[in-house]
Amino acid sequence: MTSTHLQAQRSIRQLPDTLISQIAAGEVIERPASVVRELLDNALDAGATRIKLHLRAGGVRQILVQDDGQGIAMADLPMALQRHATSKIASLEELESVATMGFRGEALAAINAISELTLCSRPAQQDQAWSLQGQSGEIKPEARPPGTSIEVRELFFSVPARRKFLKTDATELAHCVEAARRHALVRPEVAFEIWHEGKLMHQWHAQDKQEDRNAALDQRMTHVLGQEFMAQSLPVELELEHARISGRIGLPSAARARADRQFSYVNGRLVRDKVIQHAARSAYQDVLHGHRQPVYVLFIELDPRRVDVNVHPSKIEVRFRDSRQIHQLVQRALEDALSAPRSVSLQAMPSEPQNSGKNASASLAAWPSDQEQLPLASALRHPEHQTSSSWRRGHALTASERLKLWGQLHEDATESGASPAVQASDWPLGRALAQLKGIYILAENQNGLIIVDMHAAHERIVYERLKKQWERAHIVRQPLLIPVTFAATPEELDAAQTHEDTLDKLGLDISVLSEKTLAVRARPAALADGDATELARDVLADLARHDASNAMQRAQDQLLATMACHGSVRANRQLTLDEMNALLRQMEVTERSDQCNHGRPTWRQFSLKDLDGFFWRGQ
Ligand code: ADP
Ligand code: MG
Repeated sequence: MTSTHLQAQRSIRQLPDTLISQIAAGEVIERPASVVRELLDNALDAGATRIKLHLRAGGVRQILVQDDGQGIAMADLPMALQRHATSKIASLEELESVATMGFRGEALAAINAISELTLCSRPAQQDQAWSLQGQSGEIKPEARPPGTSIEVRELFFSVPARRKFLKTDATELAHCVEAARRHALVRPEVAFEIWHEGKLMHQWHAQDKQEDRNAALDQRMTHVLGQEFMAQSLPVELELEHARISGRIGLPSAARARADRQFSYVNGRLVRDKVIQHAARSAYQDVLHGHRQPVYVLFIELDPRRVDVNVHPSKIEVRFRDSRQIHQLVQRALEDALSAPRSVSLQAMPSEPQNSGKNASASLAAWPSDQEQLPLASALRHPEHQTSSSWRRGHALTASERLKLWGQLHEDATESGASPAVQASDWPLGRALAQLKGIYILAENQNGLIIVDMHAAHERIVYERLKKQWERAHIVRQPLLIPVTFAATPEELDAAQTHEDTLDKLGLDISVLSEKTLAVRARPAALADGDATELARDVLADLARHDASNAMQRAQDQLLATMACHGSVRANRQLTLDEMNALLRQMEVTERSDQCNHGRPTWRQFSLKDLDGFFWRGQ
């Protein structure tokens, strides 16, 4: 046997201590940013109110964190660098409810094993600071105000294999800053400074403790993520039985190629969690383009006993006792925030609404005029059945304001009988002015110019209408006076027969006329505008792709989207101004109407300021 000489040469031995520490360190410390995260964790746990982070060469040469926290007594300094030494828990019971950033007691020991670490600290009651050199164990007096400084030099100097894995200084620096961002976002009452090579890169001032927590968090988000993030995001807030979520989520149009702006916190601690990520993705599923990644900052609060925060060495993963509940909380909160059309919050309530949505839509013979599907119209008819929860929160207009507004409109229209021109200021998406190249609607509102991609917008309206009908298991169908027949492929014939029930549910009646011919006898009323043969063919193709009944469930949105595409207004169709206005009004009351079914935006605002900018006006 070939392995005998191996056995002869090697006996089992205990690993040397330094090697054990270095191996363990690999689990906790991957790169400079991991050190930053651990040191910031400790500073925050020590109750710091000001934290300074100094970096050199992206953190590889030097990471220095200075805080004004409670400090470490001189006698305890050596203990702080021991493995499994922590001041944060003493017993197993405490493990359950601990509220610190993490307490595995191995960070400093790990960092010390792979760098030149110096720990310098002074508790307020100690009249001087002492520093401990990690490698030599040398202790000497220093001068510094109360608090702690930890300096880490030459990271991975003793582990060249790891050092090789580091990226450029610029990349490592970016990760370090990101780590600081993650801490800073959730601790607005703490001031942060980040220095690189002696230059101040970021300064985030402490937010007043007296201030309302949400306001303080908003302020901090503005500083850390920028004004742009605030402008491009929506607030979320929801409380279920044992948990509460708040924060802000990016508009679909602000999504990014990478998942690098997703911050989630559980009880103030940053986590990366599959349940939360999945719930967020599901909430965006219907409004996001392709593989784009949403941005969000989510704060989840729950009873500490319902989450285990200590399952992972880097303390970033958690385990929820009831992950289904967390999933539901996150998904619902995000869906609610995303579904309301944003155009409505562009402006305050119109002062003098004059024209009537009813009037405009009356001339829309060719448009799906299934008014009952519009949330507002149905609310008007049955105010007690106002169901769409998203209308109730976070918008310029409350449900009752909208109801009043629509009431006025209808009265105006019936009293005067006339329909004077819509005022530009009346509606969030404004008054239609013209159609451009058969593709865009140009409209004027109080802020300036609105451009609408009419096909994309209408597709979303039809899609949402179909989804609502589908949920009620009743897609309104319209029989064709003369059935449309077409020569079908064997696959199409097969799909038509196998999926008769599904087709029926979809509002389609497709029957086999002969071995080679299918006939469409009815189609959804919402799609009365399109080509019945093309619609049938596309739906059959979709069905042929997903034959199992359970795949059917998953393909449902896809099917409805395919159908919506057929019902919506084609490019190059000339619309009257009334038709354009009606489309704008429908957009204002249709959920998710700010994105088309593929996640692209359906409208854009160009403010007068933007336009003035184009022409260098007032410069
Ligand atoms: P853990 O944070 O899991 O307790 P660490 O190795 O990160 O383990 O730190 C060990 C101990 O050192 C902490 O429990 C704490 O008592 C002390 N310590 C570390 N950093 C600081 C700091 N910045 N201020 C005060 N004490 C600190
Ligand atoms: Mg720690």
